[in-house]
Amino acid sequence: MAQARARTRRARIGDGMIGLEEARHSLLAAATTRCGYERVPLLDAVGRVITRSLYASDDLVPFARSAMDGYAVASADTTDAARTFLVHEPIYAEQSTLRHQSSGMVTPIATGAPLPEGADAVVPIEDTTRVDGGVRFAGRLLSGENVFPPGDDARLGDLLVPEGTVIAPATLGLLAAAGCAFVDVARRPRVSLISTGEELVAIGEAPSRGQVRNSNAPVIASAIAANGGRVHVNACIRDDRHALRDAVEHALADCDLLITTGGASVGERDYMKSVLREAGVSFAFDEVALRPGRPFAFGSRGATYVAVLPGNPSSAFVILTEFVQPFLRVLQGCTQPWPPRVRATLRGRIHARPSRTYAPYVALRFLGNGLQAIPLTNQCSSLTRTFAEAAGLAIVPPGSTDYVWGDAVDVDIVDWSRVESAPKADDILQSCTSNDHQVGLHHFC
Ligand code: AMP
Ligand code: MG
Repeated sequence: MAQARARTRRARIGDGMIGLEEARHSLLAAATTRCGYERVPLLDAVGRVITRSLYASDDLVPFARSAMDGYAVASADTTDAARTFLVHEPIYAEQSTLRHQSSGMVTPIATGAPLPEGADAVVPIEDTTRVDGGVRFAGRLLSGENVFPPGDDARLGDLLVPEGTVIAPATLGLLAAAGCAFVDVARRPRVSLISTGEELVAIGEAPSRGQVRNSNAPVIASAIAANGGRVHVNACIRDDRHALRDAVEHALADCDLLITTGGASVGERDYMKSVLREAGVSFAFDEVALRPGRPFAFGSRGATYVAVLPGNPSSAFVILTEFVQPFLRVLQGCTQPWPPRVRATLRGRIHARPSRTYAPYVALRFLGNGLQAIPLTNQCSSLTRTFAEAAGLAIVPPGSTDYVWGDAVDVDIVDWSRVESAPKADDILQSCTSNDHQVGLHHFC
């Protein structure tokens, strides 16, 4: 298997570059400042990170409830032979006073209604017959049958949501049931964004020859919002040292994280890293042994962190997925910041790289009882379409031999919603088989 081959040919990371895992550790080690917290109404808490563990202040719920529409009975009164029971007044779900049930009688009860004293089971309405003078049914019931016991959801003092959890819509159900009208969540990190490139024009503009629309800014800005952050500055600056210097000073003021894209490589007009250094930013690393995404640098000035992303959209998105979104979550105290990594069976071929982790975009689909990864056709880092269609990034360690059809491959999830469970990926699979598909032929920055 490719993993075994990877172990025998150890990774050799180039000078000055840092490996993917090392870069992740470096981000975690750097994140000494957290964002603080604020108390927000429950409905505003989705997507935010909870900063104080929440415990149940009572049994949830504190009384035994009927699980069915039916009749509350004492299980000891039930027999194999059919028997007629006298009937009490019905109990509905909102019943607040404790009711008593006499021996040999039953109580009509609605789903969720509190069980009367003297009853310990519920016979479903469909198993009974109304007869003159009562209700008739046969069969023994066990104590607790069709009854939700008190504290079934949570017991007094149970941990409901641990600190560091990202609140999802489903979390709101638990917190609402437990009476948490307000929750303490991490303050939204303020994030500044600078896109740089002489050739960039706004989305609504018609680019002339040589120009391209700034597609990185909306991707990054929306990822900031989706990860609990707030966009503080969103500027697009020419490749001009003075203009960049001013923009950097403005963007660094009063923010938690500055993200830049473009001008991060070794071109004549790639000023970003030197301008940031001149502004007093010190870098924990200034390149990462990852393809695509090598120019990624990470540093800080005072309490403000700085992430320098390449301009190529596809490369920038890899860095956003692997490092920047997780770092935003780390700043908020999230305990599971990294994209989920799954194991899939490769349906295609991946040409590994000797000294860098290679991260090609893949489609994912469930087939039988396993997950399959299908490398997408065009991995060129200047494109936007490939990552718009990808479900994951295959993670191929440096020094691996090529991965071939049937090999197990690690995949970092980019978007669960794109994981296919239907045979929609058949077309892609067909083309992979017929072309002996190979990715990684393009040049990456
Ligand atoms: P750079 O990293 O500045 O050398 O840019 C590399 C490539 O990415 C160039 O083709 C740029 O035009 C393109 N690029 C840079 N920034 C952006 C952006 N914000 N949106 C779309 N493409 C960009
Ligand atoms: Mg540029």
